[in-house]
Amino acid sequence: MSGTWSNWSGYVTAAPRLVASPADVGELSDLIQTAPGPVRVSGAGHSFTPLVKSQGTIVSLDKMEGLVSHDAEKRQARVRAGTRLGPLMHILQNIGQGLPNMGDIDRQAIGGALGTATHGSGPTLGAYHTQLEAVRLVDGLGKSREFSRAGDQDAIHAIGVALGAFGILSEVTLNNIASYRLRRRKWVLPWADMLRNFETMMSAHRSAEFYYIPFSGHAQFIASDLSDATPTARPLEEDEAGLRTLRSLRTGLAWLPALRRRLIRGAVAKVPAEDYVQDWLNVYASDRQTRFNEMEYHLPFEEGPKALAEVIELTERHFPEVYFPMEVRSVAPDQFWLSPFHNRLTCSIAIHHDAANDPLPFMRAAEPIFRRYGGRPHWGKMHSLRAAELKKLYPRWDDAMAVRRDLDPQNRLVSPYMAELFGIEQ
Ligand SMILES: Cc1cc2nc3c(=O)[nH]c(=O)nc-3n(C[C@H](O)[C@H](O)[C@H](O)COP(=O)(O)OP(=O)(O)OC[C@H]3O[C@@H](n4cnc5c(N)ncnc54)[C@H](O)[C@@H]3O)c2cc1C
Repeated sequence: MSGTWSNWSGYVTAAPRLVASPADVGELSDLIQTAPGPVRVSGAGHSFTPLVKSQGTIVSLDKMEGLVSHDAEKRQARVRAGTRLGPLMHILQNIGQGLPNMGDIDRQAIGGALGTATHGSGPTLGAYHTQLEAVRLVDGLGKSREFSRAGDQDAIHAIGVALGAFGILSEVTLNNIASYRLRRRKWVLPWADMLRNFETMMSAHRSAEFYYIPFSGHAQFIASDLSDATPTARPLEEDEAGLRTLRSLRTGLAWLPALRRRLIRGAVAKVPAEDYVQDWLNVYASDRQTRFNEMEYHLPFEEGPKALAEVIELTERHFPEVYFPMEVRSVAPDQFWLSPFHNRLTCSIAIHHDAANDPLPFMRAAEPIFRRYGGRPHWGKMHSLRAAELKKLYPRWDDAMAVRRDLDPQNRLVSPYMAELFGIEQ
């Protein structure tokens, strides 16, 4: 069936000749061999870059979802790669397991989350791909292959973050932890205090992150730590109402910055602190309704505050239309070859722009700041880098590309965008 395809923000659209939802590995393998190319696989379409875009075939794994098996002793679970994170949380909770960490939302498919190195926050907590024990992948020739950490650690490090260009994952085995409970606290503080205490505050909790609220001089800090306490109610989320307030102050007062600042400060000062205890699956994810486009760069941890201070100054001087809070997180180092967290503790900074407006002027102005501090872009979020620049940021780039060539020698999985990104001649 031909059709149209769009990502979550509406910024990336495609008109592929075929949109297909295989029910099993056999059908997936047939598609890779015979469907109009290039063949790109989608998760939930929540990336902001044109990773999934194809004029040939877009494959959805929506029918390939759910639990395959689990090992209670090793706390491992094997799931089909189309499983969305929301259902995955419940599958794991039912077998006494938990994901060690999560990002902001639970809408992604596990295959898609792995594909771009999706992450949450915490100095000792890796991104989703660091949980990988084994994968089943259908390669670019349509052959189903199994790789495991025990059998071939290099292959796992190559394939773990692979943007759907090394093969299509059909099943993944994840190393989980025992189901757990978290105490989550949120409070607002002056930006100057956050900046001064950045390292201590970001390192003092199992998971810590903060949002800088543009034109307010304030940040909202969020800390989560393990807890055995009795669960308490999670307060109703006010993020969407907060965004509406920030947007209306932006719209009404963009050219009266002093008044805008005063009113935002007043509104921010009234944001109540939060403190609750809940099972892990009720803590991480938020409901994001206001559509936006996003850029996120992953920087050496210690460079985070300096880069953020520059981005804030840029925004508040030149981009009065911006109202979305900027999100700042930390991610543990790992060994995966195309992981933006490769071999370094990371501070991730994300900036957002209302999906109704052109994001490019703002993103183009901010990107050089992130790059000057040695940032690597989130694969799924807006950036302008291509192979020549990316290669310099990834010490195992050539090794990764060699594995990719072996798995997809006919470039069946390579779209024009992927060819530019990976420097593949077609
Ligand atoms: C509202 C919102 C909140 C977000 N929050 C976070 C966050 O907290 N942290 C963060 O890091 N990112 C976040 N993101 C970005 C998002 O997590 C990533 O872009 C993620 O890759 C999207 O997953 P998806 O399932 O939608 O995959 P898609 O965007 O559909 O695909 C992503 C990549 O994975 C590949 N892929 C998909 N399935 C497979 C498969 N089975 N086998 C091989 N490759 C596959 C695709 O080809 C593509 O290259 C957010 C995005 C949005 C819109």
